[in-house]
Amino acid sequence: MDGEEIKTIDLGFVNAYLIKENDNFFLIDTGIAPQWNRLLSKLQLAGCSQDKLKLVIITHGDFDHTGSCARLQQKYQAKIAMHVADTEIVTSGNPVKHKARTLTGKLMLAITNLTQADTRFDTFQPDILLNDGDRLDQYGFNAQVIHMPGHTQGSIGILTDRGMLFAGDSLANIRKPSLAPLFEDYMELQKSFVKLKQMNIKTIYPGHGKPFSVNTLDSIKLHA
Ligand SMILES: [Zn+2]
Repeated sequence: MDGEEIKTIDLGFVNAYLIKENDNFFLIDTGIAPQWNRLLSKLQLAGCSQDKLKLVIITHGDFDHTGSCARLQQKYQAKIAMHVADTEIVTSGNPVKHKARTLTGKLMLAITNLTQADTRFDTFQPDILLNDGDRLDQYGFNAQVIHMPGHTQGSIGILTDRGMLFAGDSLANIRKPSLAPLFEDYMELQKSFVKLKQMNIKTIYPGHGKPFSVNTLDSIKLHA
């Protein structure tokens, strides 16, 4: 097949994406720590052996995206790339305190508090620090980094040259496509959304929920 192949790895309530370009693999996000075995078996099933996994990119530092990073470094010799502004979260293990404005967001916060969700993960040192506009071609991935602060300060999207955007939690598709229900800074999130709308995107792959077409972006409302 020409160009990239995208596999969604469903890790419970959160997605990781495995992209194959030529014979190289790239993993975007790693799910929660207890899903390590599932992630590993999915990588192996896809033929993504250690030597073929060229880069692991995390869209932001939250525990449900970084849960298997340390083990991927140790057991798969993987290199982890992330935006410089979220490194504090993954080296300290201290979670970001998110806020919410919408009903969905408030429910998510309430459930997290009620269930005292286990946000622990093995801390790690990222191998590669990314900035806005960085190209990933040197790793064999025809894509660029888009800094989209808001959900967290160091949230990024990965936009492939074919117009596939891996949006992390800046956008979600929980009941329908929406802006991040949870955020660190709402003004920043709004600005990131405006920036995104000017980019050449076809399909959006969110951290939570199913992929959706860029045409849906116009129907996404800013939070009241
Ligand atoms: Zn998430």
